[in-house]
Amino acid sequence: MSAYIFGHTTPDSDSIIGAISLSYLKNQLGEDTTPTRQGDINPETRFILDRFGFKAPELKRTYAGESVYLIDFMERSQSPKDIDEATILGIVDHHKLGDLTTNSPLEMWVRPVGCSNTIVKQMFDYYGVEIPKDLAGMMMCAILSDTVIFKSPTCTKEDTKACKELAKIAEIDDYKALGMEMFIVKSDVLNATKEELVLRDFKDFNMGGVKVGVGQLEVVDLTVFDSMKDELFNAMREIKEKGDRDTVILLLTDIIEEGSQLLVVSDSISKVEKAFNVNLDSGEVWLPKVMSRKKQIIPFLKQQF
Ligand code: MG
Ligand code: MG
Ligand code: MG
Repeated sequence: MSAYIFGHTTPDSDSIIGAISLSYLKNQLGEDTTPTRQGDINPETRFILDRFGFKAPELKRTYAGESVYLIDFMERSQSPKDIDEATILGIVDHHKLGDLTTNSPLEMWVRPVGCSNTIVKQMFDYYGVEIPKDLAGMMMCAILSDTVIFKSPTCTKEDTKACKELAKIAEIDDYKALGMEMFIVKSDVLNATKEELVLRDFKDFNMGGVKVGVGQLEVVDLTVFDSMKDELFNAMREIKEKGDRDTVILLLTDIIEEGSQLLVVSDSISKVEKAFNVNLDSGEVWLPKVMSRKKQIIPFLKQQF
């Protein structure tokens, strides 16, 4: 029976490409695995899949009775609803320790690096398995995406090293230009509904017994949002009510200016203000140098909630 490999809900490029790359490695090692996904492919990931000639993994949302590997997450709130009825064989991730647990021993590759595909690259090296050229190109793009072309504070030497080695295998000299091309695709926010935008890269966290959802849009120029702020706030309010959330935050990250505009809709506004030492009377604030949800947003929210 094939084991399924998938990333978090509302998958990003790391989750989709990680499922494909880890599945390829596992299959080379003699296991039978199938990459899957828990949600729609975003425009950036579509661009990468097309660029390297890969198909999207099959959409699959339920896993009761199946064996699974998780990549790029280990939070219950980002898991399939029936995850407790699945057998978790392993986890490959670069996030904080989550709240999932298992009944049997499992394989874990968890490292504080900028991208899950950096860890998968290290697994290929560990097992001495060659990475096909086009797969290497996709893994390289996942690293460029997660580390915002090495600008994110989550980026480590291991990520840049892995990325450069993958670029060499993929025979791509100007990998940063390809990264920029990717972020320009990502910056096209005009062909989506406001709800889709808030949810495009969205994660729920359980904080002190309440649900806090944090979305992020990384673009090359924040002025694209100027004419749609009110509508974004409306969509955030709706998502907050519908999902029974205490707080919904949207990070509008400018990857050139290197900072984020924080949009907040919350029943605990003073906690969010305290977390970042800011005033949120207008519902929004600019946070210079803030680019990482994982490292610069979530820990400070957790402290207050
Ligand atoms: Mg991810
Ligand atoms: Mg990731
Ligand atoms: Mg990200």
